[in-house]
Amino acid sequence: MHTPVRVRIAPSPTGEPHIGTAYTALVNEAFAKQYGGTFVVRVEDTDQVRSTKESEDAIFSSLKWLGFEWQEGPDIGGPYGPYRQTERREIYKKYVNDLLEKGHAFVCFCTPERLDTMRAIQKKLGKSPKYDGQCLNLSKEEVAQRIAAGEPHVVRMKVPTEGVCTFHDHVFGEISIPYADVDMQVIMKGDGLPTYHLAVVVDDHLMKITHVIRGEEWLSSVPKHILLHQYFGFAVPEFMHLPVLRNPDRTKLSKRKNHTSISWFERQGYLPVAVRNFLMSFFVQAAEGEEEMLTNEEFYAKFKPENINRAGAVFDLQKLDWFNGRWLRERTSDADFLQQVQAWATQRGTLKQALLLAKTRIGKFADLPSLVGPLLSGSFTPTAEQFAGLKTTPAQTAAILAAALEIAEKSPQFTAEVLWEKLKALEEPLGVKARLITAPLFIAIGGKAQGLPLTESMAVLGRALCRDRLRAALNVFAEAKPEQEPGTDDKHL
Ligand code: GLU
Repeated sequence: MHTPVRVRIAPSPTGEPHIGTAYTALVNEAFAKQYGGTFVVRVEDTDQVRSTKESEDAIFSSLKWLGFEWQEGPDIGGPYGPYRQTERREIYKKYVNDLLEKGHAFVCFCTPERLDTMRAIQKKLGKSPKYDGQCLNLSKEEVAQRIAAGEPHVVRMKVPTEGVCTFHDHVFGEISIPYADVDMQVIMKGDGLPTYHLAVVVDDHLMKITHVIRGEEWLSSVPKHILLHQYFGFAVPEFMHLPVLRNPDRTKLSKRKNHTSISWFERQGYLPVAVRNFLMSFFVQAAEGEEEMLTNEEFYAKFKPENINRAGAVFDLQKLDWFNGRWLRERTSDADFLQQVQAWATQRGTLKQALLLAKTRIGKFADLPSLVGPLLSGSFTPTAEQFAGLKTTPAQTAAILAAALEIAEKSPQFTAEVLWEKLKALEEPLGVKARLITAPLFIAIGGKAQGLPLTESMAVLGRALCRDRLRAALNVFAEAKPEQEPGTDDKHL
């Protein structure tokens, strides 16, 4: 390769740091190492409703925990910054105007209501939803007038009505997608920020990205990206799409059925090398019947895009346990083992906070293991018997657990005070006193009817583990409900 290889990951800071980001980062890193290239991290935060600083911080700390090192990014800068898209909004405006002037994009005034009706009709007719071109041919004067009158609008890209977009992917080979299947994508939203599709093309170009390595879910967006590159007169980068991670039932990996937050893996006390090894195993064919323990260097030497199994990788945590156990027992010296245990127990001050919380209930030091235990343990699998003595009905208990789960997933802050306020606010909608609300939560979070203060414990445990324990508790009640229609998740296949 002549031009220096430059690759990137481009996480969106919405929610928990996703294991899929690490899966993609691993290949980007290996590719950069193989070709002496540069690995860039760019934060794609143009969705201002869903993006949070907390999520961005968690993504960076998770990537660091897993040992990733990048040469350019919002945290360390670099020659092509800024590396956070909201800090680049002026840049995108210029490019959108350029497309409008050249006639490759158009202003669209359609209201969300009109678009909803349009989609509903298309669905009824058995067509896949797609913009119908209503604003495609408005005159320049009309557009100017309506903008001057303050009418809300977005900008959409034009797409050829005929022809096929054919491109090469380093994993999936030759791909052909008819333009008839490509939507006239919104590229600039009403808030003046670009959408992902515009920003990704402009940034990949300006940051001189040579290879776009990302998840398979973006494969169908490539025609839009190629078109935009061509409209701008940019060279099109090479593409490598990585097969989706799957739950053991072959549906797309989801937080409902699996553990997807990197924080969860960290809190469980997996070794970063073992998590990496687990992710590496999706890309390297092991000899029949055995999995390979691989160091980074061994992986960099072995990784070949053409050997990737396109059918997707099954995210089987038993395999991770197996790798982790072997790394701990066979490849960790005693000194290292002790140091790793300490690092795990003290990460984010967990042990210290847990001990100080235990101090509020302690009689003697020998009480510590049972007091602190739940805060240092991993996931729980509670039983129906544990919830049997509660004063709430099973339906009420399930509603409490579901509401608490929603709080654990969505609360922007995860402090004891904020969590308590939110739980207390459930009294009215659920019609249950706070004391009864906390009872099932003590069991779900702490494993027993009584224990350390609830929301303080939740704050020590962190979002990923709380979510996990609440979901496990909720499952106890879900099992009592009739089975879900089979195949409802298959649409992801
Ligand atoms: N922001 C996108 C994501 O979070 C990045 C996709 C890409 O790498 O182009 O998945």
